[in-house]
Amino acid sequence: MSRTMKLANRVEKLGVETAFLVAGQAAAHAAKGHKVYPFHLGDMNLRTPANIIEAAYRAMRDGKNGYTPNAGIPQLREALAAEFNTTRKTNYGPENVAVQPGGKPVISKFLLALMNPGDEVLYPNPGFPIYESQIRFHGGVAVPYPIIPGEKNFSFDLDAMEAAITDRTKLLIVNDLHNPTSAECSAEDRRRIAEIAVKYDLKVLLDEAYFDVRYSGESVSLIMEPGMLERSVILHTFSKKYAMTGWRVGAAIGPKSVIDVIVKLNVNDESCTCHSNQFAACEALLGDQSGGRDIMAILQARRDLAVDALNSIEGVSCYRPNATFYLYPDVTKAMANTGYTEYQPFLDAVLKDTGVSLCARTHFGTLLPGENKKYLRLAYSGIDGEMIEEGLLRLKMFLEKF
Ligand code: PLP
Repeated sequence: MSRTMKLANRVEKLGVETAFLVAGQAAAHAAKGHKVYPFHLGDMNLRTPANIIEAAYRAMRDGKNGYTPNAGIPQLREALAAEFNTTRKTNYGPENVAVQPGGKPVISKFLLALMNPGDEVLYPNPGFPIYESQIRFHGGVAVPYPIIPGEKNFSFDLDAMEAAITDRTKLLIVNDLHNPTSAECSAEDRRRIAEIAVKYDLKVLLDEAYFDVRYSGESVSLIMEPGMLERSVILHTFSKKYAMTGWRVGAAIGPKSVIDVIVKLNVNDESCTCHSNQFAACEALLGDQSGGRDIMAILQARRDLAVDALNSIEGVSCYRPNATFYLYPDVTKAMANTGYTEYQPFLDAVLKDTGVSLCARTHFGTLLPGENKKYLRLAYSGIDGEMIEEGLLRLKMFLEKF
């Protein structure tokens, strides 16, 4: 009975979302009676807007408890297509939409639909760790392209992206409004990425998880560039703008030929996304938007508190991003002052001493050659303003005592 089962070889290639591991460490610290300041995970401690909750109740009361069509309820597919046609000037119909249990499943389904074993896939590094995990797990070759410090915020290293292309490169993943750095493409970047994709005939996953999490300016989708509509699948999620991370509703949106395969994967995998939650997502798109606006106002106030607090710490420099709820401060000098050279002992000491729970550069992909600066990643979506101020004051005291 005690003999362990021999696992499949591919399991070794499966990575994790490292922020969830940090969440585990923070929970263990809290269980010992310590106060924890949770800056680690892009989860939210805000309520889903009441009209969305009510729509889910209504659907349940109305007997929406069976399976839905595998692609999702027609109302939601139509509402999503219409939303995209308005915000991205596309010409999608419901047949271009496959509803998903969250945005994350779009990553593996895009790869399963389009990647053969041995194909090379370009992905951002630092970046959302699930890209690398899923590319490798499904037999592809994960090829990073760097996200580098720019004049103000981080930017996409498009020279390196193009230089990394070989005749085996088939797919490209772009996360404009980027986790962890909040980098966003300029108009010039969007044009160049589209040119690269067309020139090398790459199929593209556009991870737009943070498209609607914006405080100023306007999000512009790469899908609007020439040649992108027919070669791209968009990852869309309801998780972030409406504080619905645990509801698990998202969508893959793209050419019908790929969406049909993704729907087949739905059949084989989860059958459908939670029935009543799909009605809630319809309400999120079509109903009163004041709840979403309130969430954004709270996030913006938190952003400002956190950026100001970080920039008040000696040896820390933090950009104020216009979108997402992540900060990626340069802490090279502050960390050097402490004497710590490695991230993990540093993060352990910060947690133990201050209760501040953080991610760092190393949680978002393998370090690339030549990287010599140190960065932390803070999410302010799951922590109130008061706790932000208190936690970052404690971090300041910790960093400045050396
Ligand atoms: N893509 C990026 C860049 C993310 O940061 C996340 C979540 O943090 C996701 C996709 C997946 O979001 P969800 O599955 O909650 O919709």
